[in-house]
Amino acid sequence: MDQEEIEEDPCEQCGLCCRIFGNNITPTAENLFQWIERGRMDILRYFSACKEDGSWVNCADLKSEELGGLVVVEMRDPATHDYLPVCPFLHRVGKRRYLCGIHDIKPAMCCTYRPWIWGETNFNQCRALAKLNRKSRWTV
Ligand code: SF4
Ligand code: SF4
Repeated sequence: MDQEEIEEDPCEQCGLCCRIFGNNITPTAENLFQWIERGRMDILRYFSACKEDGSWVNCADLKSEELGGLVVVEMRDPATHDYLPVCPFLHRVGKRRYLCGIHDIKPAMCCTYRPWIWGETNFNQCRALAKLNRKSRWTV
């Protein structure tokens, strides 16, 4: 990300979207392939995949050639296989500031999530959206 992109990104890193929706993120096959190629078992272990025969496998045990035969991939607790209450990659770094622990290699749906762009998503609690709305109200 270059300086121009950083300045254009109005996200306030409040972490609210990640705290509310983060435990439902689903990686693409490309995400899984990238993590497998890079040996990122620390990420893969938090996802489980259902194969065409109905069996479940922890994604840390997947091989890249198996990616085409997956029906669904879900974030799950690697020990219990239960759903997680919150994304395990979210880190609190200040009173109101959160960072993604896998930012450089996070799932595609996190990379493209921009609730401050009207019509793209609908999350009216986003602080960046509120800030931009206030700004446009006073500058029009
Ligand atoms: S992977 Fe990162 S960006 Fe995506 S929900 Fe988790 S903490 Fe947020
Ligand atoms: S809710 Fe909005 S401001 Fe807060 S982290 Fe998410 S995108 Fe950024």
